[in-house]
Amino acid sequence: MPDYFLSSIEYLKGVGPQRALLLGKELGIFTYHDLLHHYPNRYEDRTKFYAIKDIHEEMPYVQVRGVIKSKELIGTGYKKRLVAQLEDKTGVLELVWFQGIQWVSEKIKPGVEYVAFGKPSRFGYNFNMPHPELDVWTDNFDKAQSLRPVYPLTEKLRAKYIDNKILGKLVQELLAQSKNHIIETLPSSILKKHELIGKQHAMQNIHFPKDNLALASAQKRIKFDELFFIQLKLLRLKHVRHVSFRGQIFSDSSLLTTFYNTHLPFPLTDAQKRVIKEIYADMKSGKQMNRLLQGDVGSGKTIVGFICMLLAIGSGAQCALMAPTEILAQQHYTNLKKHADAMHLPIALLTGSTKKSDRKNIHEGLLNGNIKIIVGTHALLEDPVQFKNLGLAVIDEQHRFGVAQRSKLWKKNEKIMPHVLVMTATPIPRTLAMTLYGDLDISIIDQLPAGRKPIKTVHRFDSHRLQVNQFLREQIEAGQQVYVVYPLIEESEKLDLKHLMDGYESISRAFPGVPLSIVHGQMKAADKEYEMQRFKKGETKIMVATTVIEVGVDVPNASVMVIENAERFGLSQLHQLRGRVGRGAAQSFCILMTDVKLSADSRTRINTMVQTNNGFEIAETDLRLRGPGDLTGTQQSGVLDLQLADLAKDQQLLQLAREEAIHLLETDPELEKPEHHGIRDAVRINKKSGLSWSKIS
Ligand code: ADP
Ligand code: MG
Repeated sequence: MPDYFLSSIEYLKGVGPQRALLLGKELGIFTYHDLLHHYPNRYEDRTKFYAIKDIHEEMPYVQVRGVIKSKELIGTGYKKRLVAQLEDKTGVLELVWFQGIQWVSEKIKPGVEYVAFGKPSRFGYNFNMPHPELDVWTDNFDKAQSLRPVYPLTEKLRAKYIDNKILGKLVQELLAQSKNHIIETLPSSILKKHELIGKQHAMQNIHFPKDNLALASAQKRIKFDELFFIQLKLLRLKHVRHVSFRGQIFSDSSLLTTFYNTHLPFPLTDAQKRVIKEIYADMKSGKQMNRLLQGDVGSGKTIVGFICMLLAIGSGAQCALMAPTEILAQQHYTNLKKHADAMHLPIALLTGSTKKSDRKNIHEGLLNGNIKIIVGTHALLEDPVQFKNLGLAVIDEQHRFGVAQRSKLWKKNEKIMPHVLVMTATPIPRTLAMTLYGDLDISIIDQLPAGRKPIKTVHRFDSHRLQVNQFLREQIEAGQQVYVVYPLIEESEKLDLKHLMDGYESISRAFPGVPLSIVHGQMKAADKEYEMQRFKKGETKIMVATTVIEVGVDVPNASVMVIENAERFGLSQLHQLRGRVGRGAAQSFCILMTDVKLSADSRTRINTMVQTNNGFEIAETDLRLRGPGDLTGTQQSGVLDLQLADLAKDQQLLQLAREEAIHLLETDPELEKPEHHGIRDAVRINKKSGLSWSKIS
């Protein structure tokens, strides 16, 4: 039975109380289940021997066979090292040890044939192999060799003599004694259809693969499981919500008609119209809406949010818009207020810096229902904020809010949960959206307002600063405004500020007589706002800032974005920043400044930015480079409980897993059929082993 795997690891032969404690603390291994799922993070390929002449530094761990010709001690003090020459028919390789010199030196014998295993590295013009594993060559060496698992370990464990070999032995022991307890979870129809191997077989081969083929099959099977069970979970959540959470029915669209006929500032794009229809359908349905609105920067999500509010307000409810920063909340407020005033709808702003007396009035207005729209930061989540009837919660740039924070907002209506619209400008690749937001409905604005000129993006090295400055001067003379952005290095706020200030100074020197603004995270909200306003009004020409301007700020006349140390920014961040320009009539530019030296990843990021303006393409590259954890922010970790599956590489498998999960829920939602009992049990054991799903979204 599945409960077998919940046995404490302590009871496994070879473990005992002390090792159990260590395994738990260091690796999170508490049960048989945990150990079984502690997969190797790589495998040493002991199936092949390499010729020394073919060795280069970019190889992973390799195995070579040769005779030790000589050994000698070189250097003194911390430079002291033992160097041995290993020779095969094709050349000589240096083996080097910096530690344990005495012990190794006694062990190795010149004239004897060895197998050395390690990672080649470059030293001057030659290659060497630091700290190789050495074994004396014997005739049956290659028969015994295969793919050897290498497990994630910690220094502490090694210090307590729990090394790779020991861990491997424990896993072997567990596999031997638990074989008959590993039950197949998936019905044979699914296994056959997708050419998946059985669960037992997969578990055996993920730890001790016979060969590369067996390993690949095991990986495929386990990845499928991971993706399938996550999809199943998310889809069930969505299903439960659909059937059990009532939503207010909003059907009075008279405000909308008025707005369309008299105040709409520009014709909506087709994409905007389409998503508004989708959202309206949700709000009229009687079910609670949980919808993600995705749209690239500048695609016009704000007006969509406002138009949706009109439906709720028309039916007597109130609306909230929550933004992650004060600047952004302020800006949303300013934008919405124009529309709201035209429509005679009372609107208020509530942030951390709202005065106490104002705060009290706002609290009252929300409670008695006079205020129809409240815009704010997470100050909206505080307890004194109570609504008469919150009908729609719009959340902007959601990746900055924690899951728990968001759910607080919709508890603000105890009678009936408000409809929730989450807006994000971070394009999320489809696969990731399916996993992260598999329980939400998704609307996408895949079109920019007409007349936008694509932003021209270029890459310049710091050495070309004079030319860049000349270009900026010309743009400013032509009436344009410029952003210059410096990176935030999270480890040191002081250093950030220094970089920013140094930059500010050299800009003032390079642009005498040009009025400048500066905004950074350590300024008071009011001062930031003041500077933003000056820039927005055109009183200043260059805005020098840290990434505080990353989200949302809208200054149509700013047409040039200079990003300093662009190599330090992530792709999605670069894209967000670039989205700050390109909103007005003039041709816009984004200039990525970097050092001449760039890592391969940085180069890919910069090239991607230069080559495309498409947020979804950029997100795909970002996902490939960084993996999903970073992309979504730490709040989301835990949702992505994937060990082997990789959302960037396994998109196809994810698609299949999702289809199977949908099919399953359509045909047997309660998992009652005998062939689905394996799935039912697996869902149960996942729950017991502590994966908390109830908190998602
Ligand atoms: P984002 O989706 O990045 O939040 P905004 O809502 O801030 O984008 O819109 C960006 C700019 O485009 C704003 O100045 C807004 O007024 C303008 N805008 C939005 N929709 C349209 C449209 N259909 N036609 C022209 N301009 C639009
Ligand atoms: Mg926005």
